[in-house]
Order: sequence, then C-alpha cells, then structure tokens
Amino acid sequence: TSQTFRRYASASPTAAFAGQKGSNGKYTVTLIPGDGIGPEISKSVKDIYAAAKVPIDWEEVSVAPILKGGKTVIPDAAINSVKKNTVALKGPLATPIGKGHVSLNLTLRRTFNLFANVRPCVSIKGFKTPYDDVNTVLIRENTEGEYSGIEHEVVDGVVQSIKLITWDASERVARYAFHYAKASGRSRVTAVHKANIMKMSDGMFLSACRQVAKEFPGITYDEDLLDRVCLQIVQNPKPYADRVMVMPNLYGDILSDMCAGLIGGLGLTPSGNIGRDASIFEAVHGSAPDIAGKGLANPTALLLSSLMMLRHMNLDEYAAKIEKAALTTIAEGKTITGDLGGKASTQEYTEAIIKKL
Ligand code: NAD
Repeated sequence: TSQTFRRYASASPTAAFAGQKGSNGKYTVTLIPGDGIGPEISKSVKDIYAAAKVPIDWEEVSVAPILKGGKTVIPDAAINSVKKNTVALKGPLATPIGKGHVSLNLTLRRTFNLFANVRPCVSIKGFKTPYDDVNTVLIRENTEGEYSGIEHEVVDGVVQSIKLITWDASERVARYAFHYAKASGRSRVTAVHKANIMKMSDGMFLSACRQVAKEFPGITYDEDLLDRVCLQIVQNPKPYADRVMVMPNLYGDILSDMCAGLIGGLGLTPSGNIGRDASIFEAVHGSAPDIAGKGLANPTALLLSSLMMLRHMNLDEYAAKIEKAALTTIAEGKTITGDLGGKASTQEYTEAIIKKL
C-alpha cells in the first residue's frame, strides 16, 4: 500500500511479565474461580500445582458484580489483586442474556486493556478428531474492529455499525504476535485480513504488521485472506502448523472457534488475554451449568490456560512437567472425563495426572 500513517503514540513494546517474587521465593497469582464448573476445575488446577511444587501462592478473589450508582462493577478487591499481581487465572463467568449485569468478561478486558487474545489450537493425542496434526496459534486484536460498540440508526430501517481500526492497536498486537512467535519457536507470522475489500482499515492493519515484521528478520512474514484460510485449514491444517496467525478482532473471534472445533472442541482449548499491565488466562469454554457440581467437568482447558500463564511468567520448566503428565493421561485414555469418552470424575482425572508428575 502507498498509504503512510502517522503514529499518534508509542505502542507498547512488549507485554512481558513484570511480577515480583515474595520473600518466600514465590509469585502471587490472582485466582478467580468463577461460576458453574469454575470452582471444580480451579480446585483441580490448584491440586496439580501443589503436587508439582509450582512456586505460586494463589490469591483467590470473587468478581461477583456489585451495583454502584446503578452501574454493575467488579469489586475493588478483585481489580486491585489483578493490578498488584499482574497475572490472573480465571474460571468461566456466566453472563445473563438480554438482561441483568453487563458481561464481566468484557469489563475485565476493558479494565485491564487486554489487547491480545491468544488461542493455541494444538491436536491432542488420544482424542480422535478428523485431523491429528493441527498446531497453530491465533492472536486476535481484542479491543477494536467491529466490536468497538459504535452503532447508530441513520434513518428508520438503516443502521450503521462502525469498524474502528487504529494504527496503535494494530502495531501493538502485531508486535506481540512476533514476540510470541520468537519466544515459542514458531518460524512464521501470517496476517489474516480482507484488505481486498476493506482496503483502508485492513490495509492499515497490514501496514502495521509489515512495519513490525522488519524488526524480526528471523521470522518469515506473509499475508493471507480470511476466506482462503477458512477453506484451506479445514481441508488440510498441516501447512498452518508452526505458525502464528494475527488478525483483527471479528476475524479472530470466528476463526479461533473454528480452529477449536478442529482439535475437538471446548474442553481442551486454552486462551490468554494479554495486556500491558496485566494478563488474564482462561479456558475458552463457559460455566457449563448443565454439569456443574456433579464432578464431571474436564479441567484440561483451564489447566492448559494456566500453563500458558506459567510460560508467560518464565516458569517453563513447571509448565513442561505438568503438560507432559496431562497429555500422557489423555493419550493413555484410561482415566479421562466423559466429554473425552471416558468415565472418570474430575477428581479421578486430576489424581491420574498427579501420579504422572
Ligand atoms: P459452555 O461452554 O458453558 O457449555 C457448552 C457445552 O459444553 C455444555 O454441554 C457443557 O456441559 C460442555 N462443557 C463446557 N466446558 C466443559 C468442560 N470443561 N468439561 C466438560 N464439558 C464441558 O457454553 P454455554 O452453555 O453456552 O454457556 C454457559 C455460560 O457460560 C453462559 O452464561 C455464558 O455466557 C458463559 N460463558 C462464559 C465464558 C467465559 O467466562 N469466558 C465463555 C463462554 C460462555
């Protein structure tokens, strides 16, 4: 593109972990157990971490909303805990549809300006899906695009919804994607776009990605159209292995669920929401009210999210140990939860992982 863009402010260079160890040599991490199956799967993660001797103290907080001056807000204690610790592990939060309080997930995202949503989609051995070689990471811009919430009725019967793209947010998420690729040993970053149609907005997103790519000569950069990626990845995910895909908000929302489907769905898909001042890690699934309190929930997605958190905190060694124990337990297929085709309870599955540590 021949467009040039003015930078209005310096985009955040990285989103590196800045937490401090306490006098006992451990980090403190905020834990938001959440609703529905949240407390059960959080307990599983806590038990596994205690057994693996991960140097973390959990600070448990509730984000149960309170009403302040007619507005729903998250309790200060929860906000302050995340601010202080800069990392949090979060269980699912139930969101009422059409009425009641606003989405707490959205509130957390806005409060901490969690600008990048990271979703690794990696096939899990022992869980049969159409492909066993999916291995891609999606990084979605998390603050703007079609989700900026700027909508109005122009005249009766005509509504305008504004897609907002800024250079700063594009550059910030692009830089995070390249850092992530470098840190995780992935050799390629692909920007996913529709700049053939959205020439200015996606065009600028691509310009930002191209500019950032120059800072990372060791990583191959390319671009691909969203519709082409959708078609090709469901036909053959192999060419997408070993890469990081970065894209505007709406595209990432949809493509990441499609990729979650490729690896077998919600019980296995982790995510991280990265901000400059704090990062929150959570499973992709919701509070599963249909199975809550029955000891049936699969804690794997929350556990894998917590391992992304450990890697973000440079505690890779513990992450690798726990990951191996969990993936071996699933691959053996003897003690797995109902959603994976087994008969084990959350507790039995957790104990099977602990035995392998
Ligand atoms: P859901 O993900 O909670 O459940 C969908 C289906 O998958 C259910 O049958 C459930 O039993 C099953 N499932 C989900 N996670 C599982 C697990 N770990 N182990 C075994 N089975 C599992 O989606 P939903 O029913 O549409 O949403 C329920 C609530 O969760 C809603 O209030 C929704 O707003 C909320 N939600 C929250 C988040 C979040 O906090 N990030 C994300 C999605 C949905």
